[in-house]
Amino acid sequence: MNFLVSEIVLGKYGYMIRTTIQHQCRKSGSPNIVKNGRTRCGSQQYLCKDCRAVEVLTPKHAYSLDRQEDILHAYQERPNMRGISRIFGVSRKTLAGWIKKNS
Ligand SMILES: [Zn+2]
Repeated sequence: MNFLVSEIVLGKYGYMIRTTIQHQCRKSGSPNIVKNGRTRCGSQQYLCKDCRAVEVLTPKHAYSLDRQEDILHAYQERPNMRGISRIFGVSRKTLAGWIKKNS
């Protein structure tokens, strides 16, 4: 499972939203996982330190549903596609698709 963790940080150009991906073990849910080389097809493999499972954590969707909701919510408050796309780093094409799907 992948979680997108957003935090507001004070950067060089003022406050900004920083998003990092928090990986979790699919079996035990432990965040205690480390990179463990790559598979033959080049996907990053992870080893869970708690249950010793080796897994490939490839997100099915580039954005989680929660993330999508957050972005759409921000868009509803301020319908400025260019701004939203810049703040969240989501392409305008992707954003337009979500808006269409959710309207
Ligand atoms: Zn585990």
